[in-house]
Formats: sequence, structure tokens, C-alpha cells
Amino acid sequence: MPDIVAPSDERPMRHARSADEVVDSLDTDGNAGLTAEQAARRLREHGPNELTVATGPGLLRRIASQFHQPLVYVLLVAVVVTSALQEWVDAVVILAVVLVNAAIGYVEESRARSALDALARSMTQEALVIREGDEHRIEARELVPGDLVMIRSGDKVPADLRLVRSRSLRVDESALTGEAMPAGKGVEQVPEDAVLGDRSSMAFASTVVTFGQGTGVVVATGDRTELGRVSTMLAGVVELDTPLTRRINQFSRLLIKLILGLAAMTFVVGLLRGMDRVDTFMAAVALTVAAIPEGLPAAMTIILAIGVGRMARQRAIIRKLPAVETLGSTTVICSDKTGTLTANEMTVTSVVAGGTDHEVTGVGYDPSGEVHAAGEPIGQPSAALAEILRCGVLCNDAHLVADEDEARGTLDWRIQGDPTEGSLLVAAHKIGLHPDVELGALPRIDQIPFESEHQYMATLHGYDDAPGRTIYVKGSVERVLARCTDELGPDGTTRPLDADAVLRQVEQMASDGLRVLAFARIERDEPIDEIDHADVDRGLTLLGLQGMIDPLRPEVIESVQTCRDAGISVRMITGDHPVTAVAIATQLGIAQGAEGGGAVTGAQLEDTDDDELAEVVRSTTVFARVSPEQKLRLVNALQQEGHVVAMTGDGVNDSPALKQADIGVAMGREGTDAAKDASDMILTDDNFASIRAAIEEGRGTYDNLVKFITWTLPTNLGEALVVLIAIVLAVDLPITPVQILWINMSTAVFLGLMLAFEPKEPGIMQRRPRDPAAPILSRELISRILMVGTLLVGAAYGLFAVERSGGASLEAARTVAVTTFVVVELAYLFNCRSLREPLSAIGAFTNRWVWIGSAAMITSQLAIVYLPAGQLLFDTEAIGLMSWLRIAAAGVIVHLLVALEMAWRRSRANAAALEATATTTPIDHTAGGPHGR
Ligand code: ADP
Ligand code: MG
Repeated sequence: MPDIVAPSDERPMRHARSADEVVDSLDTDGNAGLTAEQAARRLREHGPNELTVATGPGLLRRIASQFHQPLVYVLLVAVVVTSALQEWVDAVVILAVVLVNAAIGYVEESRARSALDALARSMTQEALVIREGDEHRIEARELVPGDLVMIRSGDKVPADLRLVRSRSLRVDESALTGEAMPAGKGVEQVPEDAVLGDRSSMAFASTVVTFGQGTGVVVATGDRTELGRVSTMLAGVVELDTPLTRRINQFSRLLIKLILGLAAMTFVVGLLRGMDRVDTFMAAVALTVAAIPEGLPAAMTIILAIGVGRMARQRAIIRKLPAVETLGSTTVICSDKTGTLTANEMTVTSVVAGGTDHEVTGVGYDPSGEVHAAGEPIGQPSAALAEILRCGVLCNDAHLVADEDEARGTLDWRIQGDPTEGSLLVAAHKIGLHPDVELGALPRIDQIPFESEHQYMATLHGYDDAPGRTIYVKGSVERVLARCTDELGPDGTTRPLDADAVLRQVEQMASDGLRVLAFARIERDEPIDEIDHADVDRGLTLLGLQGMIDPLRPEVIESVQTCRDAGISVRMITGDHPVTAVAIATQLGIAQGAEGGGAVTGAQLEDTDDDELAEVVRSTTVFARVSPEQKLRLVNALQQEGHVVAMTGDGVNDSPALKQADIGVAMGREGTDAAKDASDMILTDDNFASIRAAIEEGRGTYDNLVKFITWTLPTNLGEALVVLIAIVLAVDLPITPVQILWINMSTAVFLGLMLAFEPKEPGIMQRRPRDPAAPILSRELISRILMVGTLLVGAAYGLFAVERSGGASLEAARTVAVTTFVVVELAYLFNCRSLREPLSAIGAFTNRWVWIGSAAMITSQLAIVYLPAGQLLFDTEAIGLMSWLRIAAAGVIVHLLVALEMAWRRSRANAAALEATATTTPIDHTAGGPHGR
């Protein structure tokens, strides 16, 4: 009797049963997997393989958090007091402001969150399944129980699996168990009472394969996985904090304490002086409302979220919000070569076999080309040539596929899998060697997969019952050649190896920028059915070399130049041969190190201590044959030098370096799940140019944050001073608390936020990277804020006084003061569109939102001045044309004064720059000096 599972037991102990039993119980096939029809039915029954998104309590808490602000408390007290005094209009207006403010805050914050959430989720996880006997790459959410899933190093396990095959499989389960050491996995069943961490026959959803490969049958999906049992996915888990917003929040908290203290003092002093209690209280409220920049944090989040959206359009998906800011400070980009700087579209152009050099014609994956020797097409390929190309076909996991283009009646060739391997299939195809035929003659029994560390791959071939076996090996020249004792001659017999001759060949091919792979084999006369590194560590026969071109990505040359102009140094870090690396780096303009552009290799890095390493990272731009651990050391060394480092990576072992880097950049296409998990940013097109674009957006976004702050603070300063002066002089307030609320809300929404849509300024990539330790506001900006704040006070008081002396009512004079604030802020908004440049340089109409916002601002100001409802709510009175002209003049004057101030600063900066160039030192070739930290 199998399957004696009590109905109540939902979780059969799969780990304690044999793999075959589990496969049977799930009604699937251990080799061919499910049928398409079974899979579709189960998907309907079980639902998609996704965790439920939790909502509900989060929502309430988020709404509540909008009210949990000191300013709101002050306002609520004001509502109570004004109601007690039966000042109903004021009470209602203040209450409405509190509600509207919370609503705006909530909507904006949710929009920012869901935009970020959507981006995070747009990077879908994929899984490799076997269905109906064939491998398919599908979205992980389509997996169903019974599916046969293949996992390998770098993958995130897509569902709970009972392993049915495994090879040196190790899995990092820290996401689930907290255990940092990767756990070894196998197919052997384990005792029923084994705890999660000991269930070595299972691979659990969301854990990461760090080594080896395996196949498992899906036993649970979605919420029924172990992960689903411990957590439901939280909606809005996106972290909205960044270093900048934290600094702003700190600043606000400090400010609030100060202001509340000051307000309390005002109240007490007012009472002691025997002033009217209500008036004193309202003055204290006015001061609080005026001085606290309550819109600031929300505006910061919105501007950052807009930056994230812009980066996504440039094919850079931000996974962690702080990266938006950090990008603008980046001083070094460490980039992979293959696929990031180059197109990763390999074509074998040169094959050395049996001592003869062959050229291969044709480009791309279309296998219509020929093999030439000494300029002539070869007739029959030599035994050596056939053998090296056969090795390339057999020791290979890629597939060459042809899609029929019906419109044109042609075939479109493409590669499934690694392009390096794909190019070998194409080359072999050109002399008529096909994988099916070759594998039919010599089936694969086992393999050692390619890993960057080992730089080679090996496969074991032969028939089950045949007495002997052949092992084919391909990989980097250094690793393969060192294991060879002889080489294959043209006629297929072996002869002694001339390693020096081979190395000369390699040097020559690599200096043309070719990626060179060496090929070898070893015959075994016992019928083994497994291989390990020890089986190929000596006694191989060299079959020859294949060299492939990998064209540069055309846009990268320009991007590298742009980065250099922007003070960002570009370094190449590759696993490839140093000579190949330097050849490519030279074409890209990266190899301009002080040492004449030489590369430093991983082996040389091993021999340097930390002090020497500091010198090496200062002067070297190309690092070759570098292992992932060495990448981590390089990041650390660069950071020690004060650099802000962006580092690319794709492999599972790149995770530590990606985490350590200030910006870890993972490849969206070729990258492993592990690398993506560790990254701050993912490139959907794997392209270096996208990193450059993201940095540019990062600079622009940070600019906009500072522009908003520079624009908003004078309002608060001006309002607070207006109130303080009135209190000190014990005169009528020129603006009431309710009017202050109006100014703050309406200008923030209609004017300030429009700065978030400000496009990047021209010349943004000709500046030096921003020092992350520098204060948000430079001294210049602080003095500009003080200046505008003072001008606001002067204009508001001045025009208020003019109205009063002209016989206007208190209400009318206040209306003029309020309108002055609004109009001056509007005029100043146009100054703030750039922090340095005049409006003429950036173009008056390059941000249509500021015009739309200004029109909306003026319309609503007219409404509160002239509509009876507006007059009732805000205690305003209609004002005349002369008043408007005076107000407009104030706006124009402030705008011109600020423009003058900026022009003066520019001319001073230019003079300083001129002086500096007259006495400068030569430019550092590695560009991008670090920030002095
Ligand atoms: P990169 O991606 O930086 O060029 P890799 O770490 O992928 O470097 O590769 C390092 C070296 O390993 C390559 O120069 C090549 O010689 C060898 N190699 C790359 N891919 C394969 C493969 N699929 N099989 C065998 N050897 C490979
Ligand atoms: Mg690679």
C-alpha cells in the first residue's frame, strides 16, 4: 500500500520518501516531465506559482501615518481652539487643510510605492522545465506541481522541489533558514523528522543555487511552499528611505522642535504682556505652520520616484531607491567586457589545428561560410581540423536554431545558450558537422559545467556498453594548455606538444582582440560514467585553438568618452585573456593607464598586498583573468581610495562584489538570479551605455531635489519672519494662519512639484561627480535662500504697509501680502529651474509643466481673491489693479535680483576656472579622481 497519507496531512513527507515514489505520487514522468495538457490543467487547479500579496492593515497604517506628524497635531489643536471660540470658518478650513494634505500625501506616496513595486516585479523570474521530454524556458509563475525543473549554479529555486538528480549541488538557504553556509543537496531520502535545514533531498523556493546543478520535481508552488508558509509577500515593501530623505527628516525634526519651542515661548510672552489670548494663540499657530516645511519629505519621494521611472526608460531598473542618489556620485565604473562593452555575438574567425592556421568566413550565426587555409578554400578538412570542431560541438550546451522568415523566405539563425559556445556550433556547421550526428555517434554521459573560476568545461562521451570513453575539454588557453602533454598532428596522430609555439599563436590572435579558446581531449579505456576535475588535470592531447571576434557595442565608445568628461573613470574587469582584454579596451579608449595600457591579471593581483593594490587600482584600467573574489578585493581597494564604485556582475560568485559596491549592477539578460538579488540596479539590455544613461539621470534627479529645496525654503523662512516680526512689534499679523496654509499648499502643489519634471540640464555630464559627503545645500544656495526669504519679507511687509497707509482695510492689505508671497514664489520658480544657468541657457519652454502649474496657480489665486466663497474661507477681499501691478513688480524684481546674483557667481567661477587652467597639472589618465573622503 503506497500513499497512506491521512487526509488531514496536507504536507506529505516528500523528503523522507524516495525520488521515484515522489515522482509517482505526483503522477508525472521522471524523464519527460508533464504533458502540456497536464500542466495547463494543474495551473488552473493550483493557480500560479506566486505568493499572495498582503494588503489591508498596511493600508490603514499608511493612511494613519499621514496624520502622525507634529504639524497635524498643532493644526488639530488649532481646530479645537477655533471651534471653542466659535470661529467656525477657520476651524473648517484648517480641518480641511489637514484632510487635503493627508490625502495628497497618501496618494503621492502610494503612487511612488506602486511605481517602484511594479518595476521590481517587472523583472520576472524564469525556470527551465522539462515538459513532454523537451526543455522549455518559462516564467516561474507558470510552474505546477509535478513539473520537472532543472536548476544550476546562480539560479533562484523557483518552487519547492524534491530532487531527482543532483550533481555537486549546493544551495544557499539563508533566505529561508537564516543559515549562511550553503547546504549540500542530494537525492537520498532523509529521516521524516529532519528539520528544514537538514532536508538535503529538497530544494526550497527562493533559495539560491551556489554550485553544481540538479533536477527536481515540483512538490509545492506559491503559498504552499515553505517560503509561503513563513511569509506572505508584503505589498509596499519598497523602502522609501534614502540617505538624503533621512537627512531631510532629521533636519525637519530638529526644526520642528525649535519652532514648537519658539511658538510656546511666543504664547507665554504674549500672555505675560497681557495680550489677547486668542490672538496670541493664533500667532503661535501661524509661526508653527509657517516655519515647518511639511511638504518637503513627500516632494522628495515623488522626485525620486520620477527619477526611477526615467531610469527605467533608459533600461536601468532600480531595485533600491538610494541608488538613484548614489548614481550621481559615482566616480568609477567597473565593467565586464563580454556582453556589456561588447555585443556578445561571437563569430569564430580563426581555427588553428594540426599546426595550420585556418580562416573562417561569414559573420554572425548564419552558418553559410567557408574555411580557408592560406587564402584558399580547403577541400577535405584535415583530421585535426575535424576533431577540434567536433570537440567544439560535443563539449557544448548551446543550440543553433533557425527561424523561418516567411515574408522574405530566408532563415534567421540564432543561438540558444552561451554565445561563445554557439559560435563553435556555427564554425563546425561550416564544414558540415552537426550536433545530432556527432552526439549520435558519441553520446554524452557526464559533464563538468563551465564555471568562471575553472575557466573550462569538460564532457564525457561514449556508449554505455563500449569499452572506452573520450573526454573533451575546452576552455581558456592557460588552463587547458597546462594540462596537455601532446598535440594532434594534421593526420590525426599525436606528436609532442610545442607549448611555446602555441602561446605565440595565442598572443597573435588575442592582440587582434579575438577571444581564444583551447580544445583538448583524453581517451580512457575503462567505461567510466562520471567525471570530475581530477580526470582532466593532466595527460590531455591539445586539439588546437579557435579564435572568435566579439564586436564592440557601437554606442559604448561614445559612452566611455562621456563618462571621462564627467569625471568618471571606466575600468574593465574581465575573465578573458589579458591581451584580448587590452586589444578591446584600446578600441574603446579605456586602456589609457599610466603603464601604457597594460592589463593586470588576477594572478598578479594574488601577489599584491593591500598597499600595493592601492597603487595598482590608481594606475590600472584593465584587469584580466580576474576571479569573482578578486572583484571584491578591487571594489574594496577602490572604495579605500575614496571612490564611489559601480560594479557590474552576472555570476553567482559576483554577489559579494555586487553587494559591496556602492552601485551593484546586474545583467538582466545574461545575469543569474543570484546576481540580480544582490544588485542595486539591473540593466535590461546588459549594455554599458545604460549605466552611463542611469548616471546621467541620477545627476539630473539629484539636481531636481536640490532645486525643490532651494525653491521651497525661502517661503517658510519668509513666512516665519513675517509672523515673528509682527509678534515682536506687537502689530497685526500681515498673514493669518489659514492664509499661510493656503500659500504653503497651493504653491507646493502648483509650483514646486513642477520642478520634478525638469529635464536634465545640458552639460550635466561635464561636471565632476557629486561628493556624497558634501552638504545638500552649498554655501551659495544657503545665501540665495536667505536672500530670497528676506526679499519676501520686505515685499510682503512693504506692500502691506502701502495698502494700509492708502486706507485699505486690514483684510485687503492681508490679501495683497498673501498674493505677494504667491507671485514672488512663482517668479522665483523660474530662477530655480537651474541652480547655475540662466533661463536663457536652459530654454524658457523646455519644461511645460512649470507653465501649466503657473497658470493653475494664478487661476486659483484669483479664485480666492475674487470669488465670494474664497473670500469667506480665507478672509480675503478683492484688490485693485494698482495693487496687482505693485505685486507683479515685486515678482519681477526678485526674479531679476536672483538672476543677477547667479550671473555674478558664474562670472566668479569662470574667472577661478581660468586661473586654475593656467596653472594646472596634466590630466589624470584614469580620469575620475575619488571624492576626498
Ligand atoms: P568574461 O565573461 O569576462 O569574458 P568568463 O569568466 O566568462 O570571462 O570566461 C573566462 C574564460 O573562460 C574565457 O576567456 C574563455 O577562455 C573561457 N570560457 C568562457 N566561456 C566558456 C565556455 N562556455 N566553455 C569553456 N570555456 C569558456
Ligand atoms: Mg562570461
